[in-house]
Amino acid sequence: MSTVPELFGSLVFDDRVMKATLSAKVYASLKKTIDEGEKLDLSVANAVAEAMKDWAVSNGATHYTHWFQPLTGITAEKHDSFISPSPDGGVIMEFSGKELIKGEPDASSFPSGGLRATFEARGYTAWDPTSYAFIKGKTLCIPTAFCSYGGEALDKKTPLLRSMQALNKQALRILRLFGNNTVKCVRTSVGPEQEYFLITREMYDRRPDLRFTGRTLFGAKPPKGQEMDDHYFGVIKPRVAAFMQELNEELWKLGILAKTEHNEVAPAQHELAPIYTTTNIATDHNQLTMEIMQKVAAKHGLVCLLHEKPFAGVNGSGKHNNWSMATDTGVNLLSPGETPYENAQFLLFLCAVIKAVDDYQDLLRMSVATAGNDHRLGANEAPPAVVSMFLGDELNAVLEAIENDTPYCDAEKTQMKLGVSVLPKFNRDTTDRNRTSPFAFTGNKFEFRMLGSSNSIACANIMLNSAVAESLKIYADRLEAAEDFETTLHEMIKKTVKDHKRIIFNGNGYDDAWIKEATEVRGLLNYRTTADCMPHLLDKKNVDMLTSHKVFTVAELNSRYEIMLENYCKTVVIEANTMVDMANTQIAPAVEAFVLDIAKTAAAKKALDSTITCGYESGLVKKLSVLIDMIAVKADELKTAIAELSTVDDIGEEANAIRDIILTKMNDLRAVCDEAETLTAKKYWPYPSYADLLFGVK
Ligand code: ADP
Ligand code: MG
Repeated sequence: MSTVPELFGSLVFDDRVMKATLSAKVYASLKKTIDEGEKLDLSVANAVAEAMKDWAVSNGATHYTHWFQPLTGITAEKHDSFISPSPDGGVIMEFSGKELIKGEPDASSFPSGGLRATFEARGYTAWDPTSYAFIKGKTLCIPTAFCSYGGEALDKKTPLLRSMQALNKQALRILRLFGNNTVKCVRTSVGPEQEYFLITREMYDRRPDLRFTGRTLFGAKPPKGQEMDDHYFGVIKPRVAAFMQELNEELWKLGILAKTEHNEVAPAQHELAPIYTTTNIATDHNQLTMEIMQKVAAKHGLVCLLHEKPFAGVNGSGKHNNWSMATDTGVNLLSPGETPYENAQFLLFLCAVIKAVDDYQDLLRMSVATAGNDHRLGANEAPPAVVSMFLGDELNAVLEAIENDTPYCDAEKTQMKLGVSVLPKFNRDTTDRNRTSPFAFTGNKFEFRMLGSSNSIACANIMLNSAVAESLKIYADRLEAAEDFETTLHEMIKKTVKDHKRIIFNGNGYDDAWIKEATEVRGLLNYRTTADCMPHLLDKKNVDMLTSHKVFTVAELNSRYEIMLENYCKTVVIEANTMVDMANTQIAPAVEAFVLDIAKTAAAKKALDSTITCGYESGLVKKLSVLIDMIAVKADELKTAIAELSTVDDIGEEANAIRDIILTKMNDLRAVCDEAETLTAKKYWPYPSYADLLFGVK
């Protein structure tokens, strides 16, 4: 068995392999492309392709694919083999620079939101040399961007790379103003913490709702849920431990820095966190992690649920996007410095984020909006749908002092007095771990906690990078024109605190009083659903900002608006149809069978002795008969409502109808079915119960 360092990255065409297999000249030229975005020469591409192919073939690969992230939210690949006929009737393994750089998948079925008329169905994939190629199974996977013939982005990677570029450009302007002329680039980094559930395959297979929609659409509350908090950080069960071990090994082979794993709050819920890395690589890695979690689970007779809310009444799953900005020289721009000058720079970058989050609350909310995540945000377990920021007492005090021109004195505060002499003194953590904040400063990074577990992290980071780039641009414009740098800087920081302090909230984000204060006093936005927030993607201020930084074109934004709402509508309609089907074909008949048997029992008892009252049986028969009728009625109403959607043309209106009508009727149908479940003998119920699902993995 290999050691972890041997295993790590063994299936990745990474820098080590490049150095070993490419000529010094080709390597240097490729590095220039990767680090500085230099245009790639075809002769270099040819040499890289040859080396990549030889390396892949020696590691067992027979095929290659351009691996991309269309707007379906998952990754896509189309495999081509390396073989090429040779004159002697055999084959040789071939792969050219052209094939490396550009692909042309028949992509007519990927969502394009009208960007690509079907007669021009072609989409192109273009190699992203900043993310390493890797081997999955027998296939060399080449990370690529995916765009239309006209160059419009049809994927999540293209705008993500553009947003990183935008932030780089503006951050460099600021650093130059602070006299830094050596830094070549500023990149954002992300460490995404991924939550998920594990249940047994056998039970999963018996639940059409899980199979078709990834979440349970019915299910009465189990007698025990997460009340005891005994799962959080609890001992990991052997079967889960075996899964985690194999998962780690598979991820390490792909160069993914899987680091931390633990049980989460809900029963059957777990978390995996990698060590942070450059945002576009972190995005590729998170997509791969989600895919490999599902594959490895299957090998262990388990199913990994990535849905945001697989079980009602039990905590859902999210993803924490830990985000920071750093220079190529290794300086974290969100790290407080040693000198007042460094601290001024830190404060400016901090203010840029504060301003960005306040000005573009709506874009951040949208970036995590899906039908699945709507069940979490604001449901007293995840952050609320209102975006706010947590800075901690210490930073808050610093900002207040700046705003009010009062001195900031922290001699007392910066050290924690532990009262135990053997423990070393250390600087008090600026994070007091407010878990309820959607956007928390945690010492040297921000943790954006609104992402859903199945979301690609690309969307959140596109919006975050762009919004911060915009703040930095405004600052850089002012500072470059300033006569007195220091005074202007001070005034700008002060103004940012004044103008944007409404977004800062250090209290309990789950509290109803906060939502009232946030919306009524502070005027913060509260978009509760996808249908509520998506239309604001096309608000002028958002379109202006995103197009001015060249992150999206107007056509791309229009198409994304369509696609996001289409996804929302389709998801809910599939759920609704699944519910109608389950209720009509399995639940009602199961309850009916139980009622019949009870009625028969009562009749048999009466026949034996007419004085037996049969109160239990008759009571149950009555109650369940009422419920069966209600199930039939509610299922019919839902079915009718689904049919009526076809009369709505506009996607925004359809989304509103889904939010207001379909989801309500789904809840109504669920309520009667769940009540029937609590009254029906277990052996009649067609599905594993919540208790079976949540406590089934031993
Ligand atoms: P939590 O207490 O929220 O579980 P952890 O300390 O486990 O947080 O770290 C969460 C994630 O933050 C990890 O993926 C880690 O690599 C990442 N992280 C740490 N430092 C940075 C940074 N400077 N930039 C981005 N991510 C970071
Ligand atoms: Mg976290």
